[in-house]
Amino acid sequence: MATDSSVRVRFAPSPTGKLHIGGARTAIYNWAFARAMGGTFILRIDDTDPTRSTEENTQIILRAMRWLGLDWDEGPEVGGDCGPYWQTECLPIYREAAERLVAEGKAYYCFCSPEKLAADHDAAVARKDPFQGYQRTCRGIDPAEAQARVDAGEPYTIRIKVPLDRGDVIVHDAVHGDVTFNAKELDDFIIFRSDGTPTYNFATVVDDARMGITHIIRGDDHLSNTPRQIMVYEALGAPTPTFAHISMILGTDGKKLSKRHGATSVEEYRDQGFLSDAFVNYLALLGWSLDGETTIIPRDVLASRFSLDHVSKNPAIMDPEKLAWVQQQYIMAMTDEQFSDEVLIPELHAHDLEPVGECLHDAAWYDLLSSVLKPRVTLPSDIFDQVLYLYTDDDELELDEKAVAKWLGKTGAADALTAAREALAAIPDDGWEPAAIEAALEPLPEKLGMGKGKVFQPIRVAVVGGAASPGIGETLALAGKEHVLARIDRALPLAKR
Ligand code: GLU
Repeated sequence: MATDSSVRVRFAPSPTGKLHIGGARTAIYNWAFARAMGGTFILRIDDTDPTRSTEENTQIILRAMRWLGLDWDEGPEVGGDCGPYWQTECLPIYREAAERLVAEGKAYYCFCSPEKLAADHDAAVARKDPFQGYQRTCRGIDPAEAQARVDAGEPYTIRIKVPLDRGDVIVHDAVHGDVTFNAKELDDFIIFRSDGTPTYNFATVVDDARMGITHIIRGDDHLSNTPRQIMVYEALGAPTPTFAHISMILGTDGKKLSKRHGATSVEEYRDQGFLSDAFVNYLALLGWSLDGETTIIPRDVLASRFSLDHVSKNPAIMDPEKLAWVQQQYIMAMTDEQFSDEVLIPELHAHDLEPVGECLHDAAWYDLLSSVLKPRVTLPSDIFDQVLYLYTDDDELELDEKAVAKWLGKTGAADALTAAREALAAIPDDGWEPAAIEAALEPLPEKLGMGKGKVFQPIRVAVVGGAASPGIGETLALAGKEHVLARIDRALPLAKR
């Protein structure tokens, strides 16, 4: 794919809450597009809503971006040539831009009171006027008179002058194709409020223009804002960027994603133990595909192959089961050592699980445990139940009642345990490994004339406390010889002869 280092994109979250899945996906697409094109990825904090924007939320968003591994080339903490990167720091810039438009006759002061606006609107409805927007009352006021009223302290807003002959406004959207809006329906909308703050449609365009943004990739809930923003670009005399409006993310029930569907913020997924790479991979697929079939797309492939022409305009479905599946693939791709360091050991620490008895486990033990766990773990929370038997004193191990009744209660269970104990005891201490354990136990069913289950399940119940465990060799190897023998001794009195 041809690269283009002049590409400049931005992710512009409003810090009115945490970073949610939809925002994270928008950030991923912007980042991946910039990386694939060899362009620049900018992070801008759209904090103009003072009642809902907080510094805490900004920090949460920055943390989430870092966890997602979406490094930005310009923005908070890294700086850049197009600062400020916080909208609240740009108020003089917006004011100057708005006043320049007024001076150039492309915008004007409006003195209509809210009551007058409401009455005008009601009248338009009553006379069935197809145009029910702002009636352009102040558009014709002589500029000198308007300036005098402003100077005299009369409250005003600033409105953009949508050219009356503008015709259709066509958004050339990289995802939706051409989307046509009728300019007649765009009234002369407000770009500056009477409280002296800019509106979103104005501030965002002033920033995008001064930052030289070439492509705007954002949620399609903003598509309806775009014709107004194009009016602002045109008034400012700035080139209109390419737009790419990406689809909504829905839950598996086809409804808009919400708390009802489970975790919605990036933080929650991080805290549940999703791997950043797996999470980014999954979110990238919510509306984009590499080739229509590949599902495991490592970060470097995403960053080199992402393109807007493979973004779908259909809503994407967030399916927790698919996310879990992707996570599983990433876990399976980890080395045992990586899994041990990054997933297993932190989880053991979180539960204060300390090795039982004298011996501290060595790296080989952790590698073995990791290799056993990897196919059985999607999230770190799946680990605890599976390892508890390794972190419980022999005489405190709880034996599951049903498993005891089913397997120790079978005729011959005591013989199986006795024979197993003898075979296992004969394994030299330094040869206590899965293969040796399996080799020692393997002849027993035939020797005892019993089915495999009748021989191996009582051992599992004795050592693990329940009937389910990975392979018997690994299960016992991990528990340690001394503990296995002690647990068999403890279970023997419960076993039927
Ligand atoms: N701050 C806006 C939002 O979070 C940005 C929208 C845009 O990308 O223009 O929705």
